[in-house]
Amino acid sequence: MRTNNAPLGETTAAVKTVNSLLAATGTTIFTVMSALASQHKSINLGQGFPDTDGPPDVLKAAAEALMDGRNQYPPMPGVPELRQAVAAHDARFYGLKVDPMTEVVVTSGATEAITACLMAVLDPGDEIVVIEPLYDTYLPVIRLLGAVPRLVRLSPPDWDLPHAELAAAFGPKTKALLFNTPMNPTGKVFTAAELAFIADLLVRHDCYAVCDEVYEHLTFDGWRHVPLMTLPGMFERCMRIGSAGKTFSLTGWKVGYVTAPATLAPLVAKAHQNLTFTTPPNLQRAVAVGLAKDDAYFASLGPALAAKRDRLGAGLAAIGFGVLPVHGSYFITTDFSPLGFNGDDVAFCRHITEAAGVTAIPVTAFYDGPDPPAHYARFAFCKQDAVLDEAVARLQRHFRRNTQGNAQGTTHGDTQRNTLTAVG
Ligand code: PMP
Ligand code: GLN
Repeated sequence: MRTNNAPLGETTAAVKTVNSLLAATGTTIFTVMSALASQHKSINLGQGFPDTDGPPDVLKAAAEALMDGRNQYPPMPGVPELRQAVAAHDARFYGLKVDPMTEVVVTSGATEAITACLMAVLDPGDEIVVIEPLYDTYLPVIRLLGAVPRLVRLSPPDWDLPHAELAAAFGPKTKALLFNTPMNPTGKVFTAAELAFIADLLVRHDCYAVCDEVYEHLTFDGWRHVPLMTLPGMFERCMRIGSAGKTFSLTGWKVGYVTAPATLAPLVAKAHQNLTFTTPPNLQRAVAVGLAKDDAYFASLGPALAAKRDRLGAGLAAIGFGVLPVHGSYFITTDFSPLGFNGDDVAFCRHITEAAGVTAIPVTAFYDGPDPPAHYARFAFCKQDAVLDEAVARLQRHFRRNTQGNAQGTTHGDTQRNTLTAVG
């Protein structure tokens, strides 16, 4: 191997191996599918991001905050304005009493927050219970920390929590639970009874919970998000994570926030100190403006998205997809087996990208254990109505053509699963 500064023609000894876990981790499915969508100019209903910007007053606050001379490193745990706004938000929506100076940490997105919270509590060899389908950063980070995930599986179409299996996953080595509600990709919002069952397990096994609540305000049809942290005895155990990306439709901003008891928040802050140290001050200040918006703003998010869910869901159902119920998040899960496609979900998502011009995410990407359900595709509905309509029209044309026997692909089962990268 030649190093950059070795003279031409001269080689040096081979360099040592790199981190084996990272070397074995694939590129995230979201990046893979977005690249495929752009290559085929298809409508990208894969990676979950809205196609319109968030509230103009929040954008304006960010623009103004760029120009007033506070562009150097902000305080490491977050600018006071945002920490106060997070505490006020948690009090307004959940009745939580949070000290902004000792119990809030701002991070560069929920992605960093998840890692920081895991770092805060996990030692090598600790076990952590994780519910799959799961968001794709969870397992690589847990494993990099030397901890051991204990997976509990939810299965479509009901995504019911298997109480006995969950209880059995906890043992003497369990340090924490990693818990996502409203849940990606299922759209499940955990019920009060499920939360109570989980809280009881955490107390009985004396465990922490990392609570990924990025879709907290994106719930539908009267389903309301209840943070696990609000249940009796839970405040001391929970690290609650929110994301400005989701709450303000500004996914590129990467501003996240953690609410945690004063016993844990300093640990989260120390992890943040070693991951990114700080988060852009201008964006933090704008997010503080956003979190202070009136109740009507937050109340409008669910119904607006629910209408899009219904629009896309009805279109997909008319084509023949089985459309699963969704109570929160950006995503609809669909069963494509009624369409007669001969291949797994990875092949299906590649196929519709290439042949129909619409991109979705294969649901097996959210599973790590053996034999995941392989006939489901996740579509993001956080898009303009015209975009959703065009996506449905393209799929409609494609599948009508194919069911009429002019097969361009409903029998394409030849794409290998491993050409796209799944979790882990
Ligand atoms: N958790 C879940 C469940 C998500 O779907 C996402 C995707 N945005 C994240 C965390 C990451 O959020 P952020 O963009 O704020 O890092
Ligand atoms: N959370 C987004 C999704 O599930 C993706 C975010 C990302 O690409 N990291 O689609």
